[in-house]
Amino acid sequence: MGIKIHPAVDDGVKPGDANFAGGRLHCKCTQNPVEVSIKSNTAHNHVCGCTKCWKPAGSLFSMVAVVPRDKLEVTANADKLQVVDPSATIQRHACRECGVHMYGRIENRNHPFHGLDFVHTELSDKSGWSAPEFAAFVSSIIESGAPPENMPAVRARLRELGLEPYDCLSPPLMDAIAAHVAKSKGAQAA
Ligand SMILES: [Zn+2]
Ligand SMILES: [Zn+2]
Repeated sequence: MGIKIHPAVDDGVKPGDANFAGGRLHCKCTQNPVEVSIKSNTAHNHVCGCTKCWKPAGSLFSMVAVVPRDKLEVTANADKLQVVDPSATIQRHACRECGVHMYGRIENRNHPFHGLDFVHTELSDKSGWSAPEFAAFVSSIIESGAPPENMPAVRARLRELGLEPYDCLSPPLMDAIAAHVAKSKGAQAA
């Protein structure tokens, strides 16, 4: 029995197109879908096992990437969006009818990822978006009910797909966060 990670990667990770310039995302509503237009390709795409990211039904992981917030605009049915959890660091704007998260935004100017919006490019019917590069917060799928004894098989499948599993973010992103903290504290190397 194969382990299903996410529909976008289960048949193998498809490479992105370096010249891809963006597209539109739609929620799952058949009537008046929310539309988000993005005027750039994404970066840092990855699958995520955390309990907060929106996942397609039956999927162990979400797939999430970032875009500069000034490249993202809600272009239809914005009135259907609501923030899932106003107290969360990432304000996830979801369709109140179908529940799909259309974008996540960080309003805290001191946050290392301020200025980047989080998006799920599987909501686009175009291909060419940046390909997922790693798997984040892998152990967290247990919090959503995945059996702990399956974790070695899940991690093996992720490695087979070329998505190195981490239980936080990838080392370059963890380094970027730590560097931001060091800079804000004025820390200097000894
Ligand atoms: Zn919807
Ligand atoms: Zn997540």
